[in-house]
Amino acid sequence: MIPLLADSNEAVRLWAAAHCLEFALEPGAPVLEKFAVGPFGDLRATAAITLWLWREGALNVREGAGATSPSVGAWYARDHRGCETPVRIVHNISKRVDEADRELLKLLAMKADDSEFVTIRIDEADPRWPEVARWVAEQNPVDIYWTEFTNEEVAAARWVRLFTDWMHGYPQPEDDYAELTYGATGCGKCAVGRVQRAPFRLKGEPRWGRRGIFQLFWVYSEFFVRPEVWKEVFRPLGVEARPVLNRKGTQELRTVVQLVANEQVSVATADLLHAICPVCGERKYLPHRRGPFPSLLAEPGSHYVKTTQWFGDGGEAFQETVISNALMRALVAHAARGAKGWPVADADMKRVDPTVKAFGGT
Ligand SMILES: [Zn+2]
Repeated sequence: MIPLLADSNEAVRLWAAAHCLEFALEPGAPVLEKFAVGPFGDLRATAAITLWLWREGALNVREGAGATSPSVGAWYARDHRGCETPVRIVHNISKRVDEADRELLKLLAMKADDSEFVTIRIDEADPRWPEVARWVAEQNPVDIYWTEFTNEEVAAARWVRLFTDWMHGYPQPEDDYAELTYGATGCGKCAVGRVQRAPFRLKGEPRWGRRGIFQLFWVYSEFFVRPEVWKEVFRPLGVEARPVLNRKGTQELRTVVQLVANEQVSVATADLLHAICPVCGERKYLPHRRGPFPSLLAEPGSHYVKTTQWFGDGGEAFQETVISNALMRALVAHAARGAKGWPVADADMKRVDPTVKAFGGT
């Protein structure tokens, strides 16, 4: 295995390094660390998550169906009860396709309709992924990816990052909502450090249908719920709410409130990529997408908290929202449609010693 660390193919080097670490062979670590600060891309992301899993004591490399790429269905995280679950990473790739693209998709038996603009959805565990990944690296299409967790994984997590599958419109008025809502707080360039000074405004009462929670585009720090969802799910667990106004700011809306987080918690940032703002010098982390959300550095004292860290990959900046297992369960029990949980890595994972597995506990 160790000779492969010097292989001319970088994917082979990365794969060999991951296997070395799995068997507690230290020379693997510097190889991965070099990838982890290398050019942005799949190798860098894979190296970062491998190092993270290794430090968490949860690294377990398997040969995936394709085995030509180190990212093929190879990553398993061990949860705090010792169960191994595959980390399922799903890509939604969109591209204006030409003849060559179409040939390749046909060859791979990827479903693509005849329109000029094609969107394909593929799991990294799919045997076709190495080919698709190469195509993505060459063609640079829009590639939105995330990790999928089962309901059981979400229910078992002690903390989850809250998100929603319903983005409902924009804050109002669209041109000056930031000034109206945040006053002069926060950096004018990167938006880090904004503090809410006034209620959000919406176009009107939300068209809820059967849903119970939404977010606004641009405002990824905040969640909005029906007043009855707040009363039955959030208020009993000590979460406060504040009113939301109509577009002109003259009237409180009756069917929606904004949830309020009164506590912040820091998360482990060692494996998050960040940019530093040239104006304010603050860090903004790239939104987390691979594997469980980084572990919390302290146990929150409330059920609904924000991260101390700011995230974002453009002009927006936001703090992620983390909620307790009890609150997530209450949301599920209430069937508040739209609420989704992304498990936070459990700090307990650190107690698993990788050498125990490699050397049979001696
Ligand atoms: Zn800034």
